Amino acid sequence: FDEPAGILHRTGPEYAPDAQNSARINATLLSLVRNSELNDMLRSMRDLESTWNHKFNYPWMFFNDEEFSQEFKQKTQAETKAKCSYHVVPPEHWDIPSWINEDLYQESAKILAENKVQYADQKSYHQMCRWNSGMFYKHPALQDFQYYWRVEPKVHFFCDIDYDVFRFMRDHNKTYGFTINLFDDPKTVPTLWPETTRFMAAHPEYIHPNNAQGWLTDAEHWPEHTQDANGYSTCHFWSNFEIADMTFWRSKVYEDYFNHLDRAGGFFYERWGDAPVHSVALGLFEDKNRIHWFRDIGYQHIPFFNCPKRGKCKGCVAGRFTDGESWLNDNDCRPLWFKYAHMD
Ligand code: GDP
Ligand code: MN
Repeated sequence: FDEPAGILHRTGPEYAPDAQNSARINATLLSLVRNSELNDMLRSMRDLESTWNHKFNYPWMFFNDEEFSQEFKQKTQAETKAKCSYHVVPPEHWDIPSWINEDLYQESAKILAENKVQYADQKSYHQMCRWNSGMFYKHPALQDFQYYWRVEPKVHFFCDIDYDVFRFMRDHNKTYGFTINLFDDPKTVPTLWPETTRFMAAHPEYIHPNNAQGWLTDAEHWPEHTQDANGYSTCHFWSNFEIADMTFWRSKVYEDYFNHLDRAGGFFYERWGDAPVHSVALGLFEDKNRIHWFRDIGYQHIPFFNCPKRGKCKGCVAGRFTDGESWLNDNDCRPLWFKYAHMD
């Protein structure tokens, strides 16, 4: 099992923020965030800077559907030696596509709300999920970048990480890294799997021979769930944390898949999240050996944790998954991932 423990720790002058011949990989930290979330963003930055990035100085790139305030810019830059940059999302990446029918959207939102689907009535939430699914890597500011680490406001990082995780991704030929693996609310994605099945029938050649389809379609572990999601286990990598290679999102396979989903309308008529969309694509179209569990990165996005059993960690109880109600443990999909990805 490829634990990164043995790899070279490359800290030093070549990682200085302005190093001419920097040892940094072509990668960035990436955050879609609102001005109103400044303080929560600063908390996330503080954790990631102190546990990892102060050793490597990877740049921070902030994205927003409106202009960032001066205060946002000043206070975020003050948290790091690394370079920060601020980018507005172009309207053509954010606006609701022309083929979405407003009446149908309103009607669906009502039904989703009755079914207690979280955020269903918030238009911008749907837009955010669509942007994270199929738009962010098309932003002009990211065109020359290959890898990113997605960081949300109000998350925590608990453990010292001494190696360059982007170099690890590259040297081990990884496409995607995750920390938390969950079941989703089937009511957010009733037609995601049926649409995916249709897409697979049209493009059987896109399915990777070493895929993780079993993880996506297991019907034994939580039968009602898989039934409600029409064949999808709802297992997904929790995408508020992602370390990934954008080459996969930029491939023809993924572009075709995203366009198919986008046309089907489920980002608005249902509440498809970028987590299930990314995860279904990875589970079908990518080699499962190129997906890595960063078990060593202590992480929390309320209400779930990834708390390593070993390592230099502060504030993370080893092995903890949630500190919420015990039923939240039912949401842990790691056992299925280990089963189908053949990890121990
Ligand atoms: P949750 O994690 O699913 O509860 O959703 P969040 O509210 O945390 O949103 C996910 C990410 O998208 C966070 O980084 C938010 O800051 C960001 N986000 C969500 N909606 C918007 C929006 O309308 N504008 C901007 N700029 N960022 C948004
Ligand atoms: Mn969040």
